[in-house]
Amino acid sequence: MTRRLTTCPYCGVGCGVEAEVEGDRLIAVMGDGRHPANAGRLCVKGTALAETLGHEGRLLHPRLQGRRVSWDGALDTLSERLRVTRERYGPQSVAFYLSGQLLTEDYYVANKLMKGFLGSANVDTNSRLCMSSAVAAHKRAFGEDVVPCSYEDLETCDLLVLVGSNAAWTHPVIYQRIQAARAHRGGPRLVVIDPRRTATCEDADLHLQLRPGTDAFLFGGLLRYLAAEGLTDEGFVRECTGGLDASLAAVAELDPCTVQEATGLAAADLQRFYHWFGDTPRAVTLFSQGINQSVSGTDKGNAIINCHLATGRIGQPGVGPFSITGQPNAMGGREVGGLANQLAAHMDFNPADMDRVQRFWRAADLAAGPGLKAVDMFRAAEAGEIRFLWIMATNPAVSLPDSAAVRRALERCDFVVVSDCSGDTDTARMADLLLPAAAWGEKDGTVTNSERVISRQRQLVPAPGEARPDWWIVTEVARRLGLGAAFDYRSPADIFREHAALSGFENDGDRAFDIGALAQLDDAGYETLAPVRWPLEDTLPAPFTDRRFFTPDGRARFVPVRATPPAADGKLLVNSGRLRDQWHTMTRTGRVPRLARHRDFFAIEVNPATARAHGLRAGDLARLGNERGAVHGLVLPDEGLPPGQAFLPIHWSDQFAAQAAACALFPAITDPVSGQPQLKLAGAELSALPVGAWGLLFSRRAVSLPDLAYWSQIAVDGGSLTLLGHGADPAATRQWLEPLLVPEDGDLLSFEDDARGDYRLVWRDGDSVARALFLGPGRDALPGLEWMAGLAGNRTGAGDLLAGIDLQREDPGTLICSCWEVGERQVSAAIEQGAGSVEDLGTRLRCGTGCGSCVPELKQLLALRRRDCAA
Ligand code: SF4
Repeated sequence: MTRRLTTCPYCGVGCGVEAEVEGDRLIAVMGDGRHPANAGRLCVKGTALAETLGHEGRLLHPRLQGRRVSWDGALDTLSERLRVTRERYGPQSVAFYLSGQLLTEDYYVANKLMKGFLGSANVDTNSRLCMSSAVAAHKRAFGEDVVPCSYEDLETCDLLVLVGSNAAWTHPVIYQRIQAARAHRGGPRLVVIDPRRTATCEDADLHLQLRPGTDAFLFGGLLRYLAAEGLTDEGFVRECTGGLDASLAAVAELDPCTVQEATGLAAADLQRFYHWFGDTPRAVTLFSQGINQSVSGTDKGNAIINCHLATGRIGQPGVGPFSITGQPNAMGGREVGGLANQLAAHMDFNPADMDRVQRFWRAADLAAGPGLKAVDMFRAAEAGEIRFLWIMATNPAVSLPDSAAVRRALERCDFVVVSDCSGDTDTARMADLLLPAAAWGEKDGTVTNSERVISRQRQLVPAPGEARPDWWIVTEVARRLGLGAAFDYRSPADIFREHAALSGFENDGDRAFDIGALAQLDDAGYETLAPVRWPLEDTLPAPFTDRRFFTPDGRARFVPVRATPPAADGKLLVNSGRLRDQWHTMTRTGRVPRLARHRDFFAIEVNPATARAHGLRAGDLARLGNERGAVHGLVLPDEGLPPGQAFLPIHWSDQFAAQAAACALFPAITDPVSGQPQLKLAGAELSALPVGAWGLLFSRRAVSLPDLAYWSQIAVDGGSLTLLGHGADPAATRQWLEPLLVPEDGDLLSFEDDARGDYRLVWRDGDSVARALFLGPGRDALPGLEWMAGLAGNRTGAGDLLAGIDLQREDPGTLICSCWEVGERQVSAAIEQGAGSVEDLGTRLRCGTGCGSCVPELKQLLALRRRDCAA
């Protein structure tokens, strides 16, 4: 057995992972105790990494129009279509859509090919949806996209303000570090600003539950307050910044009453926050998608940065505005120029940078200016202007707003290439050419996390079938286009050296992103590269510690921000976000049974009073829709949402549910500066969907389902479970479904009770169950999930199903602790029996004693019990 160090491929925390490999198999993973991001911790997604490397669902061979082809055939076709399209319709007719899941080396070659040699900057990335507003805010304020903080600042500050971030779920290891710091030295004080009361709020000293989209009022009011109370750092403002007066003029109207009215916050809460911020020199404001995913996300980012500049709280330990990224390598993408409005290595489309990059690359056809950003790129495809589109490692049919328009764009585009590890994503299903890409653990490269630490991802096992790394695929295409000399890479190490050299090329301290010294690494040095933060020690000081910014005069810029209320159309306000145990469109995490049980079937979260007002109870089927699209989901009441608001998780696609792509509801409107779409606010209407029959289906093999009002599927050991709902009664539903569900092999045995509308069908394959369906008029009568999942491997007997006996079995409920598989009902029962703390629950049930991701929810359940007792 060998041990190898690598990096988690999920969120922007970028945790180090130690992997145990035996032969060609990954046996286990654990946190890397030496990695600066996590010091040995992993969240529940990270701990399940070894369970995601199965070959099921993998794309193993290139496929052209659905037929298997050789790599040579696939690459020849791709190159020819790219060449012909570009020649016939011009450079702007071709585009690449990349991903924050790519490694830096993959990103680098794709960006270089398009911007340096195809004469177009139509390269954008799904990171546009995640943090491009923060990038734009950094550039406006600092002159360069530089995150001025590290994770240590979150521990050493005295006040931590989390804005638009459910860190307990989305960046769990960061949250655990914060909690540990609070437990050990009594600080930092924690303020959470979020329209939802999330798990992150449970331990907060103050939760500001402001109206959606009103953050600029809050921070504009804070800037005004700081100036009015004489709390600004006059020396820093005078010597190191410019533009404060104009920014103060823009917030002159934002007195506390106005802010209160706009945000809906109580006067006392607002005052407390302003006092705490004003009185605490060591303050960090950590912001995430809740700020960025807005039509005014850049302004909101600058409203936050303005407050830090006004108080001089930047460039010192324990202070700063800290934008945290969602994706594992969003930062690496920013470094190579993966966004359409960047060039490369933090250089832009200005004459000096263009000349420098052109000379360095010996670029035959450098793009003349910025390309199309994500939303505009797909609009251009729908309009027939982009005719060749290559999508790598992402699923825009699910993740971009106005999904219906994106699907139209994919249909309209002449030639769509998708490189991915899965051949069955919603986007892959619409591709002309599918290329099997190597996945995490199967390829080598680097990633950069939210605190600018570059880490190696290492190959642990061979890639299955004919899967290849993305850098290799792009390089092979470049060679076929006659660009072999510029793409003469033998390995990711070659690419990394060139990327590092470009960052240092004619730099002279003008650009903070300078890893030029790493261009000297030989192959062995690259192989053993330990995590390293930029700017590299010995080359440049840590960002802004020298009070110098990357603007022409070296001063930071205040940006005047005029707060505007979000448009309200009287409908339900829909928010969207991530769940604790899932990642992106679940192509990896969706395969792990224990990760599916924290939130099993697709649900629409809504305030209980709002549900009641619409005649809906928990578990009913509802439609949430508007003029763009709709989702069908189970009603999940959530007291943490204010009345009139709903929340949709972003993970479900056509692979896992009937109609559950949250982005279908969001308009394709974007921030005018960053181009980032608004994915946190849309209007929609909620209504009940009548269900005549509910069903629970177990299937050992993949099953394709017909057009039902609702179905949602989870992985279980040995197969899948699907909850389904249909308008017709159980008898009619059975008659319709039965012929559609017959497995390849299997003898049908059935139990029928027409009077009760109780139908149970079991297809046996020898001694085991190939498929089983339970149908009834209500969800309450369906078997428990544990019992039904036990049909795999005959852990539970199909005989009970067929004997017609009552199958209500004790179900642990929503899985709170995924490490020890402890459900909500078990936790609640233990609390009923006297468990009064997280430690106590851990002793009784082991929950919370594994990765720790569930601790905030355990605290929530304990707090709920305390509130109930007090009432
Ligand atoms: Fe991976 Fe979790 Fe660490 Fe994020 S916090 S990098 S998902 S282990």
